[in-house]
Amino acid sequence: MKKILTLCAIFMLVGCKDVGCEAILSNEEKNTLKEYGVLDYVEDDCKNQRTVQKMLHDDFNKDYIKSYCALNIKSTDHVNDLIVAGFSDKEITALLKLDNLDEERITRYKAYTDANTEKTMKDIVLAVNLDMDEEAYENIQIIDDESLDVLISKHYGLAEGYIPSDLVDITSVCQQGVDYSCSTMDKQQLRKEAAADYEAFASYAKEKKGYDIVSIASYRSYDYQKNLYNYWLNEKGQEYADTYYARPGHSEHNGGLAIDISVSEFPFNELDTFEDYEWIVETMKDYGFILRYPEDKVDLTGYGAESWHFRYVGKKLAKELYADGLTLDEYHALEAR
Ligand SMILES: [Zn+2]
Repeated sequence: MKKILTLCAIFMLVGCKDVGCEAILSNEEKNTLKEYGVLDYVEDDCKNQRTVQKMLHDDFNKDYIKSYCALNIKSTDHVNDLIVAGFSDKEITALLKLDNLDEERITRYKAYTDANTEKTMKDIVLAVNLDMDEEAYENIQIIDDESLDVLISKHYGLAEGYIPSDLVDITSVCQQGVDYSCSTMDKQQLRKEAAADYEAFASYAKEKKGYDIVSIASYRSYDYQKNLYNYWLNEKGQEYADTYYARPGHSEHNGGLAIDISVSEFPFNELDTFEDYEWIVETMKDYGFILRYPEDKVDLTGYGAESWHFRYVGKKLAKELYADGLTLDEYHALEAR
């Protein structure tokens, strides 16, 4: 037995020709490889016959036989696309280990790899999934999704005139914001689940701490956002407007899932200096809200830090993101696609 194993090991090094080894390829598969003219290569020099076998049953291309033999794959997904894109065998091996690979971004991964040769494949995929290889508003994808975890950003926009299907009024009155976010005459609204959890949080804060959580802005219509953005564009120019205000269709407020808050008369844009601010952030996650634009994630979110802007994602996800220190952008970029 030991002798057979040794023999087998020797043959494994030079290719396994069924001498005391497990036969991997069936006669039918061998015939197919013979027709393609690659059987000798596979039998003599192929390190991963199983990869060849898997590809034979999926989307085999004889021109890629050397790559197939270099790769040890679990599934045939993306293999040919990655070879066509020009990734090396080593890079493909690393890419196939990731579960957040997006088939539609493969050529972008390659371009980003070429421009960032020092980065790992894991970092490349994350960066491109975060659209960091593109300028803001360069290649906008229109959102057709009302999930509570929906990503609304400078790369993902709501359709013109979008109105959430389940808006409800909240009892909080709007405080006149110095940033022209809403007027005292406006009705304050959020999507149903977000509204209920926001009200519950505000009541809890009042009961536990004795202060009033107030809303500076909640749902804003597409047209309102357009006027707001244009107002600041005219006042302070494009760089300022794009740092602090979303263009129409790109505001989480338009999605009915964001609320800007403060405490009574405390200036909302200094909320992070409020003595109990950490308690507010920590407690809001238990009610399904995350601080959406933190100071240390400005490069990822594309927005300046906003200590007052909270985004509803549901309780389970809010707690996870808080625990992992992730933004919603990162969550989506890390998700299986
Ligand atoms: Zn906001």
